[in-house]
Amino acid sequence: MLPAELAADFQQMGLPGYRAQQVSRWLGRGVASFEEMTDLGRDLRQRLAERYTIPCLAMVRRQVSAHDGTEKYLWRLPDGESVETVFMRYKHGNSVCISSQVGCRMGCAFCASTIGGKVRDLAASEMLDEVIRTGLAAGDRVDSIVLMGIGEPLDNFDNVIRFLQLVNDPSGPNIGMRHISLSTCGLVEAIDKLAALHLQLTLSVSLHAPDDETRSRLMPVNRGYGVDALFDACERYFAVTGRRVSFEYAMVRDVNDTPRHGDMLVRRLRGTGSHVNLIRLNYVSERGLMPSSEETVRAFAQRLSDGGVTVTVRRRLGSDIDAACGQLRRGEMRKL
Ligand code: SAH
Repeated sequence: MLPAELAADFQQMGLPGYRAQQVSRWLGRGVASFEEMTDLGRDLRQRLAERYTIPCLAMVRRQVSAHDGTEKYLWRLPDGESVETVFMRYKHGNSVCISSQVGCRMGCAFCASTIGGKVRDLAASEMLDEVIRTGLAAGDRVDSIVLMGIGEPLDNFDNVIRFLQLVNDPSGPNIGMRHISLSTCGLVEAIDKLAALHLQLTLSVSLHAPDDETRSRLMPVNRGYGVDALFDACERYFAVTGRRVSFEYAMVRDVNDTPRHGDMLVRRLRGTGSHVNLIRLNYVSERGLMPSSEETVRAFAQRLSDGGVTVTVRRRLGSDIDAACGQLRRGEMRKL
């Protein structure tokens, strides 16, 4: 519940306004029960425990990368499903990468998250709990959030927007929209719906190919919208929000990493001011696709840059702990 909703409910229960603020603050700090809310009287704690539940994620596994300190968590949800969250430390602050669904129905050819399809959407409270509990477990501040874990956030639109309100609230993690990135495989109508909300978050589009033939091979979603429609939506997004869309491009050997693909991408993006983030594909054994060589990635980046497109190559964090989308949950499912 948002603090205002809790306050309205408390008012109906005949409780004074400051009680809702106290409880919101405790929840923001991640307490798991009303018993821990020590500045409430015993009777009140009991009354609240009868009326509400605080659904908490339980830690199943925690892996820490020996290379870079990246931490990956597998959380058990109240109904027994599980999702993963990653905690990353950068010079400019700590970032948490959260899942938005249990599984995914987008079917991208390189991705581990989508192998078993979508099981269900995550509730806003579950996404919030990923942020709070991961911060507590890592013992460190959370400065920014990326919605780049398991699931397609725009396929769980209403819950994700509600999560953004919760995580943005001063009584909770209090993370500003400019410190939040949302990544989508490119659901065109949902991009327009998001634009209309005028949020100041960063929208990243998983592009992975500049042409329909290659993109449809990698991403079934492209068979519905196509690259032209996607770029049009990105332009509208910029026009409405004033925020430029950035593009993710996972480099797959001999599939989307040739000079021809580089040139097509330059033609698409030159002059738009858009930023491309190249990621060497994380190898997922079930998927059969191979990462491009580091040399190919470097040459591709150079080609974009020579063509006037801003490009960065994503640093690989946590590759020794299966930190790519869905790999940890997959591993756990294989064991069952
Ligand atoms: N569904 C959203 C967000 C989750 S995926 C989206 O599609 O953007 C986060 C990013 O990781 C996406 O860009 C996705 O395409 C990419 N990704 C998935 N599997 C990958 C892999 N094996 N190697 C590299 N990137 C991968």
